[in-house]
Amino acid sequence: MVKAIVGANWGDEGKGKITDMLAAESDIVVRFQGGSNAGHTIINDYGKFALHMLPSGIFYEHVTNVLGPGTAINIDILLKELEALEERGIPRPNLIISDRAQLVMPWHILFDRYEEERLGSRQFGSTKSGIAPFYADKYYKIGIQVCDLYHPEILKEKIGCITEVKNMLLTTLYGALPVDGERVYNELLRFGEKISPMVRDTTGFLQKHLKEGKRILLEGQLGALKDPDHGIYPYTTSSSPLAGFAAVGAGIPPYEIKEVIAVVKAYSSCVGAGPFVSEIFGEEASQLRERGGDAGEYGATTGRPRRMGWFDAVATRYGCTVQGATCLALTLLDVLGYLDEIPICVSYEIDGDITDTFPVTPLLSKAKPVYKMLPGWKCDISKIRRYEDLPCNARRYVEFIEDFIGIPIKMISNGPRRDDIILR
Ligand code: GDP
Repeated sequence: MVKAIVGANWGDEGKGKITDMLAAESDIVVRFQGGSNAGHTIINDYGKFALHMLPSGIFYEHVTNVLGPGTAINIDILLKELEALEERGIPRPNLIISDRAQLVMPWHILFDRYEEERLGSRQFGSTKSGIAPFYADKYYKIGIQVCDLYHPEILKEKIGCITEVKNMLLTTLYGALPVDGERVYNELLRFGEKISPMVRDTTGFLQKHLKEGKRILLEGQLGALKDPDHGIYPYTTSSSPLAGFAAVGAGIPPYEIKEVIAVVKAYSSCVGAGPFVSEIFGEEASQLRERGGDAGEYGATTGRPRRMGWFDAVATRYGCTVQGATCLALTLLDVLGYLDEIPICVSYEIDGDITDTFPVTPLLSKAKPVYKMLPGWKCDISKIRRYEDLPCNARRYVEFIEDFIGIPIKMISNGPRRDDIILR
């Protein structure tokens, strides 16, 4: 039985918490795309953790965690994250890494940084983790796979060819120092040794365990609106965070995914540039930002304050559609308890026309939000565990969203901890 947990918005919907929670009843948790460019925050009995490379199942000894072929592996960050867990007394996680996954190289990070600097005010707001240059090179077929670490001749030749071009660009286009290919090669051999016990054919592993009826969770990073094909291009990420891609990036048959849980945030937040129709500013935004998440809405990777907005039902319905969601988990509902009235963006005004269809980027940039106001509940709902016990206006808010999107909300998260959850 395979389930996918994916974001319906811009990311930071609280997928880490939901995955960590559902991992208790899973055998395997798989990351299928992205790298260290986003963080998943998990709060459990061990404390608070911001994971970047590691899957969200690593706190359970019975779970095998997989970094699939679709992911972008930054070995340095991966090893540091593992060390940090060890220092905090977490049992060594059961982690395996696909031998077909590719590696984030030092030049990817340099190009990410220098290109954003070159773009200046036109920059995309990249986390500068090297992810866009990484995927560009992957599809340009000049990426380095994990398996190359164990074939030194091939690795050396690849690094030689790649640095020839990269160094030309680094020195001439950006006026930067070249990369020392020999050093990179030696470092990679060292990294290769360190991770070798974890490296294997994860696709074969998953296929075998599928046949045995094991419970598999596929964990998406970011959200549908950041998808390069269906999202707000070019303000997107560089790999697909959609459940449809999960089969590819993990290495399982698409028809095995029986449940797609789209995580939907009770308000909106966004990192990076691009149109964000229901965005709010000033005092209104800082009030929501400070109350959001478990310690304010600040990027888990960069610490940047997130852009804030009201719930955008148009964008979220679209996000759930492209995810192919079978049910929803509505998160961070507790955060809205301070408001007298809560705006929900139910349509867009574009050049004087009203639409509730999510448009292409040039039109989205012109869209103005049309709000419906719902009454607030003005109390702390974080201790409530049964849906019937929620204040009437909180239920009204949930049901309005459910009706608008047309997909059942089966989970409501009302606090950052594992057991802050209402199941319906
Ligand atoms: P992810 O990348 O989708 O996993 O999202 P984040 O790591 O950015 O998670 C969002 C933040 O909200 C984190 O700080 C979580 O600890 C926190 N969080 C998750 N669910 C809830 C919730 O229901 N209520 C509150 N108050 N915080 C939550």
